[in-house]
Amino acid sequence: MRVGLFGGTFNPIHYGHLRAAEEVREKAAMDKIVFIPAGVPPFKSQEAASAKARLEMTGCAIADNAFFELSDIECRTPRTSFTLDTISELIRLEPHNSFFFILGVDAFLELPLWHKPDQLVSLVSFILISRPGFHFSDLSESPYLITSRKQMRELEKSQPGPIEISLTGGGSALIVAVTPIGASSTGIRDDIRDGRSVRYLLPPEVQSYIINNGLYRK
Ligand code: ATP
Repeated sequence: MRVGLFGGTFNPIHYGHLRAAEEVREKAAMDKIVFIPAGVPPFKSQEAASAKARLEMTGCAIADNAFFELSDIECRTPRTSFTLDTISELIRLEPHNSFFFILGVDAFLELPLWHKPDQLVSLVSFILISRPGFHFSDLSESPYLITSRKQMRELEKSQPGPIEISLTGGGSALIVAVTPIGASSTGIRDDIRDGRSVRYLLPPEVQSYIINNGLYRK
């Protein structure tokens, strides 16, 4: 099976995440997408709802999609979740699957700050998705990219579908353009805190969960 692993804080999950996952499934021929909410996110602990709440919101959001799965692998432990450990464990549990780690361009550019990023790049293939405010050619700023900015632009022009590129250390990435949806969890939290509507930015079930549990209010 080709399995897309979609990690994130999901604080809260929104349509930007969900639509991107659906398009990756289709465009990159994944058999399933596994959503992995971070337990104790290494970088974003301050405004985070509890791991339990983020896990439950993600569960509500994906419940009606037979190709989407929820993993609590990172939420089960009180320790900080490192992606390298999570993916190593998933590979150990299901050695016959091919795993692809899904990241937005913004997140991939921050990869050098992660725990043992060189090992992660050698361990798993990446799927890099577009996100409003970032261009695929920005990826050339990453130390893990071999392709130059100019080559990236040319590839984008010449290939309508997913583009496969090589990363340093023998790694590889599939670049997948998804429908631009400018939602961000930070924006949603700000809207809720300031009393603005978040309707149509996230599934109604997630919105109800946030209201019922009084999340993100002042
Ligand atoms: P925050 O605003 O708190 O930083 P976020 O909206 O970026 O949160 P995360 O849970 O940090 O959400 O994101 C998980 C993954 O989803 C990251 O790889 C990120 O790049 C990607 N992602 C988030 N929002 C979008 C979006 N609107 N379109 C495409 N990818 C997205």
